[in-house]
Amino acid sequence: MLNVPPQAFPAPGSQQRAAAGGRTKVPLKPGRSLMDWIRLTKSGKDLTGLKGRLIEVSEDELAKHNKKEDCWICIRGLVYNVTPYMEYHPGGEDELMKAAGTDGTDLFDQVHRWVNYESMLKECLVGRMAFKPIAAPKGMLSEREVLGASARDTTPSYDWFQTDDLITVVIYTKQKGMNAELVIVDCQHKRLRGEIILDDHSYLVEVDLDHEVQDDFAVNIAEKVGKVEIILKKKDHIQWKVLGLPLESHNTLLRRMERGLFYRKCKLVSKTEVTHDTKLFCFMLPKSTHLQVPIGQHVYLKQIIAGTEVVKPYTPLLPFLPLDFKEPFCQDGAHIYLMIKIYSCGLFTQALDHLQIGDDISVSNPEGNFKKSQVEALEDLFLLAAGTGFTPMVKLLNFALAKVDCLRTVKLIFFNKKDDDILWRNQLEQLALKDERFEVQFILSEPAEDWMGKRGKISSALLSECMKRSKKDSKVLICICGPTPFTQQGLQCLEDLGYSQEEMHAFTA
Ligand code: FAD
Ligand code: NAD
Repeated sequence: MLNVPPQAFPAPGSQQRAAAGGRTKVPLKPGRSLMDWIRLTKSGKDLTGLKGRLIEVSEDELAKHNKKEDCWICIRGLVYNVTPYMEYHPGGEDELMKAAGTDGTDLFDQVHRWVNYESMLKECLVGRMAFKPIAAPKGMLSEREVLGASARDTTPSYDWFQTDDLITVVIYTKQKGMNAELVIVDCQHKRLRGEIILDDHSYLVEVDLDHEVQDDFAVNIAEKVGKVEIILKKKDHIQWKVLGLPLESHNTLLRRMERGLFYRKCKLVSKTEVTHDTKLFCFMLPKSTHLQVPIGQHVYLKQIIAGTEVVKPYTPLLPFLPLDFKEPFCQDGAHIYLMIKIYSCGLFTQALDHLQIGDDISVSNPEGNFKKSQVEALEDLFLLAAGTGFTPMVKLLNFALAKVDCLRTVKLIFFNKKDDDILWRNQLEQLALKDERFEVQFILSEPAEDWMGKRGKISSALLSECMKRSKKDSKVLICICGPTPFTQQGLQCLEDLGYSQEEMHAFTA
């Protein structure tokens, strides 16, 4: 499977030995990290064997290049010679070979659609497929597919109208229960992009506006009827003849995973130390963006490192752990907070750490498969977090304590190496004192001798000792997040302890 690396392969012996989605990484030879690959692509070496020529590739020709020592792969109509890349692929040569001599688009999309292969493999470009791309254009559904898609009998539509000062774009989603988290709007340099999330589909309005508008705009949502209004302020008060020029994906309904990730530039406004190696970054969204990250979802950050786009996922949280749970903590909608561990040899986190206040970074739309409905009517919530795997637990904890009436217990079992690695320890202990439903237990894998608490790593024995239902057959959910081996072992232990699949949720990419 084409699994272009988002990152350098962890050092031997590091705990990050498997990719986030549970895909196994294989040991790479020394000198085969992402940074080494970037260096090779900049060396001027002819990586395609075509001396800079771009050619048209027929299906027959593509199929001939299906060996490790001569391997071409097509992604979205473009053909790459990935032979020189083989040894650098974190998923290993065999994974890459699954797409050898064929169209790897679907395989690529299943694994890492957020990885910018165009940038990573640009020096390996052989040319275009002749005649037609083998796969359909990314994510485009045929009319028949749209109509038949998951029993969706109504497709959203849009309209627009104007006054002297305002342009109102109305999207009729035809879905009840619309809310601000399901509406993502960006309007910059006359380009309006309004995306509506409809379960596992996304509807998009995307136009190059006829005239300039002001940076700020309003979004009104009529929840019950599913109507979304985007109200733009005209810069000059003239009558518009048309809304604008439709862009390529305008007025399309696609499966979410097939919609390209959209990024906007956000400014770093503060960086605060949380522990010796972890910092809380606060990024400000542009005025011209409406975006709220739902519970349990992550965003991708994108930076150019040594001339190559590198993308990594991070899970937004709250700026602090609220102690009052009358209402879920309401974010201002203007800032995104990320708690990020800086690894001493981390490609991305080192670059992040060098950002100065006022610098920009690209932040994507949110993704993730956690649904608030998983918490509904819950009685016991167990959160198993390891290291920065704590981040998705913060909003979840806040929401559950504020919104789930029948909740009896929430227990965070927090695995770390040493006591000075524990994130927000004081805040967690204060919360446990304040709210009797909440309990926290710290478990260290490399404790100092004087550590009085529990020691060890995740195991069935440990979990059965630490997790007690509030009553027999209570409705329970166990959420787990941390290094991949931790998550995998945790899920196995839970299964061994008799929990069902519906009672577990693992946060992964
Ligand atoms: P790499 O260049 O990938 O690694 C370089 C070196 O750093 C490795 O050789 C290894 O020695 C060390 N290293 C890297 N990762 C680990 C690890 N996990 N354990 C031990 N050593 C390691 N991270 C956060 O800090 N906060 C978040 O909110 C967060 N959210 C995430 C959400 C999702 C869905 C996923 C999949 C990951 C998330 N991560 C989060 C991890 C993040 O995406 C990066 O993997 C991490 O920041 C390391 O990137 P890097 O490029 O600096 O390190
Ligand atoms: P870490 O290396 O400091 O380890 C923390 C604890 O995890 C250890 O004390 C140990 O108890 C456990 N652990 C680590 N490796 C283990 C292994 N091989 N087997 C069993 N238990 C193990 O953790 P970190 O550096 O903070 O890394 C956090 C991880 O969480 C990263 O891999 C990151 O990608 C992941 N993460 C994922 C998401 C998400 O998917 N939504 C969000 C945030 C972080």
